[in-house]
Amino acid sequence: MSPNALRGLTLNGPDLLVETAPEILASYATDQGPVLDYREPVAVIWPTSVKGVQEMLRWASATGTPVVPRGAGTGVSGGAHATVGCVILCLDRMNRIRELNAEDEVAVVEPGVINADLNAAAAPHGLMYAPDPASYRISTIGGNVATNAGGLRCAKYGVTRDSVLGLDVVLANGTLISTGQRTFKGVAGYDLTSLFTGSEGTLGIIVGITVRLRYLPAKTRTVAAFFPDFRAAAAGVLAVGAARVQPAIMELLDGATLGALDRVHGSTLRARGNALLLIQTDGFGAEAEADVVRGVLTDLHGTVSAEDSTEAERLIELRRHSRGDAEVEQLRVGEDVAVPRSALVRYVAELERMAGQHRVNLKVVAHAGDGNLHPTFWVQADDGGGRERLGAALDESIAVALAMGGTITGEHGVGQFKLPWLPQEQQAEVLELQQRIKAVFDPEGILNPGKAITGAGV
Ligand SMILES: Cc1cc2nc3c(=O)[nH]c(=O)nc-3n(C[C@H](O)[C@H](O)[C@H](O)COP(=O)(O)OP(=O)(O)OC[C@H]3O[C@@H](n4cnc5c(N)ncnc54)[C@H](O)[C@@H]3O)c2cc1C
Repeated sequence: MSPNALRGLTLNGPDLLVETAPEILASYATDQGPVLDYREPVAVIWPTSVKGVQEMLRWASATGTPVVPRGAGTGVSGGAHATVGCVILCLDRMNRIRELNAEDEVAVVEPGVINADLNAAAAPHGLMYAPDPASYRISTIGGNVATNAGGLRCAKYGVTRDSVLGLDVVLANGTLISTGQRTFKGVAGYDLTSLFTGSEGTLGIIVGITVRLRYLPAKTRTVAAFFPDFRAAAAGVLAVGAARVQPAIMELLDGATLGALDRVHGSTLRARGNALLLIQTDGFGAEAEADVVRGVLTDLHGTVSAEDSTEAERLIELRRHSRGDAEVEQLRVGEDVAVPRSALVRYVAELERMAGQHRVNLKVVAHAGDGNLHPTFWVQADDGGGRERLGAALDESIAVALAMGGTITGEHGVGQFKLPWLPQEQQAEVLELQQRIKAVFDPEGILNPGKAITGAGV
């Protein structure tokens, strides 16, 4: 489509900035997910106001133009990948914190606010925005809501949905609606706020978010327990739960991940053990809870240390970087399954078996408190037949997670990449019901088509 085809849309007015330069189209064509069907958008459009989003969607509806919303493009499931003939609607310039009310413990933000920026604004009030994906320094709250992002602190504070009270959403025809409320409780009508949260841009464009803030913990304590193998560390997760301690953070890193972090960051984690269980307790009882954790993990023969605050912060930061340690010569497939916590040890054993059977390498990090694992299977890039073996390992790892009562995606969303596995998890009637819900909100099917849900005409 030439820029002329954008006729009818006020180009580069006060509410919309439109770019069609080839280098811009190329750099906004994909997010960080695997690219299976590369497409370039016909334009990248930045609204600077709700009015701009409404104007843009009225135009898209009238012209039947697909719209792919985008925050920071850090998604790893292809949810923000361009599709045929689409425009990318980039919300990152709508980035004002409209209100932060310390008495009500709520904030109202535009979708492009970076997660860390809201936390920085809340901290002087003794408050925090709890959902903290490892990408919190670069991802937007709009994107976090659209994917119902998880993060490290989910173990205690829940996922994004648990912090969203209300939303302002522009529907496909340009209508602006508000859902939910700014009180912590509210049960009027169907819970549309929850429906939009995690809908991956397929039902509406999120233009305003009212979130609940939590208390910034008075104290935190971090316990690092190194184990001789990953299964023993996974068993530690269950033992801490059985002691009825609720850590804020409970992350698991295997030996391969520790080695990769050492190579990239110059740390010496691998020398301390073959698996790391990293636990943070918080609040006024942080020290007492950390004492219980240390006792439980020592009983399991973990090498347990209480990290001083500098080293603890460094370990947590290294964990946040553990996705970004890509070694270029590798071919990789990674995913984001979750299994019931009781199945964690068995699932890890199964992953190790699969890696051996399919002759691929494995590394695993997990938000272990939620049973949410990020296994990565990899081979050297020049390894003949590696791609096929990786695909077989990936398929099997998903089938086994489902058989254990798990899910294909704990936090990253279905996007484009995980669509083939969705029918393995959800029954045909549920898939069909989701299509009908989509048709109610988006009858022309212009909002992020081919993402998040499967089915004819989607
Ligand atoms: C290093 C790294 C670490 C990560 N760690 C985590 C983690 O711990 N937990 C986790 O859950 N994820 C994690 N992610 C994945 C990613 O950061 C999250 O999915 C994040 O929520 C995406 O936010 P974004 O602003 O980049 O959104 P994008 O990637 O731009 O978009 C994500 C999806 O939301 C839709 N969307 C974006 N904005 C809107 C809007 N305003 N209205 C409607 N739809 C919209 C898009 O169409 C797309 O489907 C990580 C990614 C990286 C690169």
